[in-house]
Amino acid sequence: MEIVQALEGIRKELDLVNKETEIIAATKTRTLDEIRVCMGTGLCLGAGENKVQELTEKYVPEFRWDFIGRLQTNKVKYLVGKVDLIHSVDRMELVREIDKQAQKHKLVQNILVEINGGNEENKGGIPLEEVDAFLDEIAKADGVCVQGLMSVAPLDASESRLKEIFSSVYEKFARYRSDTFRYLSMGMSNDYLIAAACGANIVRVGRAIFGERNYSV
Ligand SMILES: *Cc1c(COP(=O)(O)O)cnc(C)c1O
Repeated sequence: MEIVQALEGIRKELDLVNKETEIIAATKTRTLDEIRVCMGTGLCLGAGENKVQELTEKYVPEFRWDFIGRLQTNKVKYLVGKVDLIHSVDRMELVREIDKQAQKHKLVQNILVEINGGNEENKGGIPLEEVDAFLDEIAKADGVCVQGLMSVAPLDASESRLKEIFSSVYEKFARYRSDTFRYLSMGMSNDYLIAAACGANIVRVGRAIFGERNYSV
């Protein structure tokens, strides 16, 4: 099956660059059958969805699901208890709601702090300069565990600009790195090898696994 071959190819390429890098399959618009094929290879850490409704419709507990998209506060309640890691946390209002829902379920929700590494307007994520203060604030939320950083690079950036952005996020990550603060989620189909070379240990890959298909991000 094509999905299997594609994944094996990606794994081989990643191994040449960074053996530690794990793959989250970005599964938006893909069917549960396609996702099962993907997870069945054992080559993916989990499935990553970017819309809450799509995730809850496809959700089965047999493998790991992460949430990778922009998250509205009022939808947090549908995710807590289902997703292992929320990659896209970029404001305190969201942290407080995740904390509240996690405590309600008597669990701790793992999250990543999203960085707007390219300082793009109209994009999720906080500027790198604000990370220290944001992490200090989050530390007060007992129901939330920050496991690292995430970033989505600009679509139109050159390779050298991508390296610059990924490396600057890596530097911040390296300063906090610990047994708990252990994930750096950056890189998609277009740039996962660059991201992995810059220290990403999670890449979120969709089209390179499943083939091209039109969708809105
Ligand atoms: C869709 C998506 C990806 C994967 O994008 P591809 O270009 O299909 O690899 C990664 N991260 C996020 C947040 C996404 O929404």
